Parts: sequence; C-alpha cells; structure tokens
Amino acid sequence: MDRNLYLMKSVMIGHAVGDALGVPVEFASREELENAPVTDMEGYGTYPMPAGAWSDDTSMALAALDSLAKGRADWDEIMQNFGRWLSEDAYTPTGECFDAGRTCVSAILNYFKNKMPYNKCGESDEHSNGNGSLMRIHPFVLYAYVKELPFAEWIDLIKSASSLTHAHERSVLGCLIYAFILLHLCNEQSIGSLKLGLRRAECHLREYKEISHYQRIFEPDFDKLPTDEIKSSGYVVDTLEAALWCLLTTDNYKDCVLKAVNLGDDTDTVAAVAGGLAGALYGYDAIPEEWRNTLIKREYIEEMCEIAYESWVKYF
Ligand SMILES: [Mg+2]
Repeated sequence: MDRNLYLMKSVMIGHAVGDALGVPVEFASREELENAPVTDMEGYGTYPMPAGAWSDDTSMALAALDSLAKGRADWDEIMQNFGRWLSEDAYTPTGECFDAGRTCVSAILNYFKNKMPYNKCGESDEHSNGNGSLMRIHPFVLYAYVKELPFAEWIDLIKSASSLTHAHERSVLGCLIYAFILLHLCNEQSIGSLKLGLRRAECHLREYKEISHYQRIFEPDFDKLPTDEIKSSGYVVDTLEAALWCLLTTDNYKDCVLKAVNLGDDTDTVAAVAGGLAGALYGYDAIPEEWRNTLIKREYIEEMCEIAYESWVKYF
C-alpha cells in the first residue's frame, strides 16, 4: 500500500477506534474507571450502542472527508454533509445519530435554519470552546499533507475548518497546534518529530493572544505532570492536553488510547484525538486487530480513505 494511503488509514482508524473505546464510558468519572478500567471494546453503557460503535467525532470527520475526497475544500458541501449527519443520520455506524455537541448543533442550525453563510455559522464566544472542531480536524490535516499544501494555505484551511462550528481563536488554535503535530508525525513517525511539531507550533503561533492558554503543552516537562494535573473534559484545551499527555507517557497505540479512555469524562473525544495521533506514530498495524475487526463499518471508513487518496493524487 502506498505510504500516504497507509498513513491516512492509520489516522482515520486510529481515531475511530479511540472514539469507539470511549463511547460506552463517556462522562464516567476517573474514580469509577480506576475501579473498573476499560481494557477492551465494549458495548452499551452510556448509550444503547453495540461494541465498536463510534460517535459524532468520527461521523463529522467522515462528513468532511466525503467532501474533501472530491479534491477540494467545498465549505458549503461540508456544512451540508454535517446537516445530513445531524438530521438524516448519514455517516453513522448504526444509522442513528446519538451524540451531538451543543456548539456543532447551533452552527449547523445557523446554516440551515438561519440561512447564514458557512463562514458566519461557527460560534465565536468564549463559552464555545469545546473540543467539537478538534475532534474532526484530522481529515483536513491529511488533505493538507497528501496535497502538500504550502504553509499559508494549510494554516488558512485549518482555520476555516475549525470556524465552521468553532470560530473562537482558542478553538482555532487547538486545531492549529494539533495540525502542526500531526503533519510532523506524518513526515516522520517518531516522538522527536512530534516534539519538533510542538516547537514549530509554539514559534509560529506566538502572535496569537489566546496561545497562553496552551502554555503547558509547550513546557519541556509537560510529560512529567502527574495524572491529577491532567483534566480530560470537553474543553478544547483540556482535551488537547490530555490526548498529548497520553501520547507522551506511553509507548504503543493500545496503552495510549486505554490511558486516554480511563482518564474519564470526555472519554470518546480524548481517546479519539489521542488515537488519531497514535495511529500516525505507530501505524495501522499497531492498532490491535481485534479492535479493528470490532469497529463498525471499518471497511466503509477505509474505502473513503482510498477514494480520497486516489482523487488527491490524481488532481495534485
Ligand atoms: Mg463523541
């Protein structure tokens, strides 16, 4: 398999498996999970969903990838796909949309009900800084990577992609930092490359006022922080910190995503964000085969990667 197609599948499946591992225990507390940790793909729990069911994180990513697969970023079409997910259950594992974040829903309603242009739909107040754009940003980074977009172009792409739903600078920055890291991991699969990505992010993004909120992840001893200092809530800063911390404190895909899930709270998204990065770092083959086989509609996700890849290479 071509290297870049392999990377795309590593990231998309790595992310979806993390999401599916976290779904049954979404909102469980850290204490509960310390007593009964997740060790495998489970069904039911928080939602009446079978094992291997992924949530809005993966659905919205697929909605974006399905449009990007045509070889361009058509923002109206991406919003329309988000709408098809929310109201027609498209891009779902079982034909049912069972989990949707407040800010994403309000942006989609701004587009469909309030007829606002796509670039005005995203919420931009300080209280709309959940992880709802970070959790679905990876297809845009993969698009930028495979198409080798110039620096200014991919920065703009990620800003616009976040702003469809999350337009506040803090959310946009979370996506940009993630993009720096994932692009570096795509270039070279090593912790050294990840850390180089972090340094470049800090350097290139230092003019943004909101960057101070992410200061901890740029500290050299970030990975030495004890678990108690890591929050795993749905706040974009907490989610990015928790996912990165799991990546930096483990040495394989399985331990990384299980650690992320067992932090509790926003389990599916923290594990999805960690899982996408861990997929890039360790590769598709490092994702446990039983988990890949349990993932609902895995072939559908992989097929979408193949279609997108073919189109991106063809219209280079
Ligand atoms: Mg979710």
